[in-house]
Amino acid sequence: MAVEATGPRVLVLANQKGGVGKTTTAINLAASFAAAEVNTLLIDCDPQSNATSGLGLPKDEHRLSVYDLLLGAASAEETLQATELEQLWIIPSHKNLVGANVELVGAEHRESRLKDAIAPLRDRFHFIVLDCPPALDLLTLNSLVAADAVLIPMQAEYFALEGITELLGTISRIRASFNPALEIEGVVLTMFDERTNLAQQVTAELKRFFGEKLCATTIPRNIRLAEAPSYGKPALLYDVRSRGAESYIRLAKELMSRNMPTSEQPAPDELNPQEDMENAELDKSA
Ligand code: ATP
Ligand code: MG
Repeated sequence: MAVEATGPRVLVLANQKGGVGKTTTAINLAASFAAAEVNTLLIDCDPQSNATSGLGLPKDEHRLSVYDLLLGAASAEETLQATELEQLWIIPSHKNLVGANVELVGAEHRESRLKDAIAPLRDRFHFIVLDCPPALDLLTLNSLVAADAVLIPMQAEYFALEGITELLGTISRIRASFNPALEIEGVVLTMFDERTNLAQQVTAELKRFFGEKLCATTIPRNIRLAEAPSYGKPALLYDVRSRGAESYIRLAKELMSRNMPTSEQPAPDELNPQEDMENAELDKSA
């Protein structure tokens, strides 16, 4: 189970579409890594602060947050908070983070602030999970620059692929400019109902498009996943036997087994969005 300590795997949950399960996945995946006894850090990069409250941190105007980190007013060490899980830590968000987008305009290295700020923590964690806002803004840009790989949560809907054209384009541009090693970790289907024909069709289409990058584990629609944050708990502390908690534990295992032998990690350019886009005959102007 132990992952070699060659620095952490920094995973970012990104999809500019709102409400697709980024935060639910960030919380429950991070909790599942921690429950599997690897030190894990969740960084809440969304001013909505849903991952922060979902892990039970009360609102606190004075607590240091990602905002202070990005503005250079605090060190990563100072912003770390413990959680109910022994091996899970969080760097919380705060609603003032929305101002960072504006305050950092014109700042030097504004896109690599997060990467630079968390560098001193790299030895302490096996996984660092970043939760992003539903926008391709400076906060998401900082997350994509700080990350090793992007995990894209999406729902199995018609036009599912068109919805991520923009994200794949952004990932290509970030590789070209700031983070050449950025990989696509995978695509995980959330709020999934395998019984419907639609889900089956969309899954088949995504499988053709993403191949091995489509996670074998799907996350079912499960009420426990929606309830748990109001108790400030990841699902595995709220109802460990729920299908929701179990599916995230399975997803964590799938990602851990993928990431263990470095030699078997996918090459960064294995998935070429531009080429695949053409194959999928999508509107590239989108
Ligand atoms: P945003 O773009 O606003 O940050 P998000 O992508 O982070 O949203 P979530 O907040 O994780 O999405 O999920 C949106 C809503 O759907 C939440 O109310 C959440 O509790 C619920 N939800 C997410 N995943 C599931 C699931 N598998 N089963 C049931 N409800 C879910
Ligand atoms: Mg969210």
